[in-house]
Amino acid sequence: MTVASSDITQPNQRICAEWTWTGTSFERGIFVGIGADGVISSVELSESSDHNVNHVDGILLPGFVNAHSHAFQRLLRGKGEVYSSASKHNSFWGWRDEMYNLVNTLGAKEFKAACVLCFTEMLDAGITCVGEFHYFHHGDMPYQYDSIVLEAAKEVGIRIVLLNAYYEFAGCGKKELSEAQKRFETHDLDAYWKQLDSLSDYKRGVVAHSIRAVDPVELGLLVRGARDRNLPFHMHLEEQVAEIEQCKASFDNKTPLRVLLDLDISLDHVTLVHCTHSEDAEMQAFVARGGMVCVCPLTEGALADGLPNLQPMSGQICLGTDCNARIDFLEEMRWLEYGQRVKTNRRGAVCHVGTTWVPDLSAELLRYATEMGAKALGVDAGCIEVGKLADFVVLKVDCENVMEMLPTAIFGDAAVGGVCVGGKWVREYTSSSATVSADSRVRKGVTVDVGTGFVKNGNSGTPQKRARVEPCEEGSLDQSEAACVRRVMDAGDDVVALARSLVDINSTSGSEQHMAAAVTSWLVARGWNVAQQAVGSRYNLHCVRNHANGEVNSAPPKVYMNTHLDVVPPWFPSTVDDTNLYGRGACDTKSLIAAMLIAAQTLTETNRSAVGLLFVVSEETTHEGMIKANELGINPQYLIVGEPTDAKVVLLQKGILKCTLTAKGVAAHSGYPHLGRSAIDDMLGVLGEIRAYAFPQSESLGVTNVNVGKISGGQAVNALAEECSAELLFRLISAPETVLEVVEGVCSKYADVSAKVITKNDPVDMTYVNDLITGFDFGTACFNTDIPYFNFDGKAVLYGHGSITDAHCPREYIALKDLKSLVPAYVDLVKQLSDKC
Ligand SMILES: [Zn+2]
Repeated sequence: MTVASSDITQPNQRICAEWTWTGTSFERGIFVGIGADGVISSVELSESSDHNVNHVDGILLPGFVNAHSHAFQRLLRGKGEVYSSASKHNSFWGWRDEMYNLVNTLGAKEFKAACVLCFTEMLDAGITCVGEFHYFHHGDMPYQYDSIVLEAAKEVGIRIVLLNAYYEFAGCGKKELSEAQKRFETHDLDAYWKQLDSLSDYKRGVVAHSIRAVDPVELGLLVRGARDRNLPFHMHLEEQVAEIEQCKASFDNKTPLRVLLDLDISLDHVTLVHCTHSEDAEMQAFVARGGMVCVCPLTEGALADGLPNLQPMSGQICLGTDCNARIDFLEEMRWLEYGQRVKTNRRGAVCHVGTTWVPDLSAELLRYATEMGAKALGVDAGCIEVGKLADFVVLKVDCENVMEMLPTAIFGDAAVGGVCVGGKWVREYTSSSATVSADSRVRKGVTVDVGTGFVKNGNSGTPQKRARVEPCEEGSLDQSEAACVRRVMDAGDDVVALARSLVDINSTSGSEQHMAAAVTSWLVARGWNVAQQAVGSRYNLHCVRNHANGEVNSAPPKVYMNTHLDVVPPWFPSTVDDTNLYGRGACDTKSLIAAMLIAAQTLTETNRSAVGLLFVVSEETTHEGMIKANELGINPQYLIVGEPTDAKVVLLQKGILKCTLTAKGVAAHSGYPHLGRSAIDDMLGVLGEIRAYAFPQSESLGVTNVNVGKISGGQAVNALAEECSAELLFRLISAPETVLEVVEGVCSKYADVSAKVITKNDPVDMTYVNDLITGFDFGTACFNTDIPYFNFDGKAVLYGHGSITDAHCPREYIALKDLKSLVPAYVDLVKQLSDKC
């Protein structure tokens, strides 16, 4: 049970940010479901497009987890920063005297105000969870301040883990406490456990303040007691050389870390704070036993502690704001790296993780600030994954390049644009829905003048990925709107000429305007009513044939034909030889549009309400055109969707499961393999089993495709690999969960191999076409379409000529005979489906 979320119930939510952090990269179009319990219930790549999705401007990250804080020390901000040359303020110990002066003056009211102020600033900075290392226990009543800290966090709405400290002595060798320190005193272990257990409604941790304040015997009992209670254990290890010297003098020349290592107990629940002067070998031994380190770069800088050696920590690092003189987690991340740069004269020092090299510095820093903090506090947060707490921060970063967004946020600048704790938005995010709806004007009626009114981009100021069009050698065709319209009008009713004229319009995703204008003109000239629906600066086309007398047809057609106006870059114009039409969009989907136009025109000549047309933008990128089309209120019984399906009516659009497998090993000399475990061996075993597994297949729907697309791992040819990872992509004919279960089952057979889902999409089952359509071949599509993004009560029928294997490549083409036969094929499909209405 956690303070911040225990008594909050939220309605179910679905959010979709411009970019969502998956743990390794930002992805577009990720829908995150949040349950009423404040837990992430789904993370999907736009599996549907219902209207209950809240669009979030900015980049969505897991909320920052602050693993170490003393909230009341916020009141010391700005104090003690005037120095005389001989001042004792010039050391840590001088600062500590200042802190004790504050402690002497702090009543319950002031103490609470300090905590509220501090936690408020943490939320402002995107920190959603704080590990409050709490040793200031007593006010007028014993342990009065323990509950005040918890109350303050609850009031502010931040998630808290109360790391309640044991504090018995003033220094190594059982030195008596000073007057100020009496307010920290825990008299004996029994009383300490009793107090801790009385707070069992809250998320807690066990703490020994430091080797100065806790005798090694009690230290051992505290570490064990935490383990027995399944709670995390935290301790200030050392940040000053003097405390190491004191420890050595008192305890057989042992460093504080050695004292801890000599405990005969697993340390995988232990987080040690600072570790500024730890010896490399001892640190390696500590992390090998599962320990973690909390580094607090800004505090360690402010207090002149020194710079820790990070490499032996093997990435088992989390971050804390400690004295809270400055609360900025991006800056903690930045200075973790900058400190190392200053110390070593090398950049990317944080990348040197144990014996391996992690090239993505920013992702590694973010991992410390989120996932590792959550691990240190024993909180199920820190990742955007199903089952994790819905704690998020939204950042606004002025950066267009997705690869540079995170480095820009950490090393440049970013503004917090929303904070969510357990599904509750404690700092509002801005939603693009307001601007989107302001932009969703649907123009009814005949409009050929497309130059005005539709150029305003509703998402201005937000990062948008635009497809870059390579300059084309033959790109000299006039691409003005007037020229595009003229070429299409000149093509008339000849399907090859019409397809050519459409291919010759450059309409890569994001620049479909002239394509839409030309199609509109062609239809309007033939008596169609074309409504243009703005999608940013482009527009979708909703087309219905007018009555013969020119009146608008009010009965909506029951059958629609649909495809997309955009093509993938780079654009290149058409060429034709005896057998084929070549050019960008020749099969995906300009030829299909030409065939649909002529088929629709032929059909409506005789029956003027027989078929409607829906052409949308951005199918090749974000599907935002089709998502927007849901606002048109079209609800056909049948939607014929054009994609190059090799003249087959599609029974099933395969689903997708993309996941990363990570194997962890134990390094050893390759001549003595019994001393370790190779992560690569384990990974080969897992991959072998997965590739040999009989995943679902059927005669009609085909097979489940498995592709191991990427493998990396190992540190040296003569060493057992410490880590190995592999990225897998499955094309599914069944639900992603059935395959994921198998993958996880295989992983679980190995010592330390885990699977992480990057994206998943259900297959689209269209096997109903078996009973609907006769005279066509059936097949399976291994590519994505707009179908899952359109909400309607009817059924989709996916069909087109040309092959998807000839699309998206420099040889893109369609055979002329396939193009010509597509017109009667669409006519036939519409007629068959109309008969079923
Ligand atoms: Zn501290």
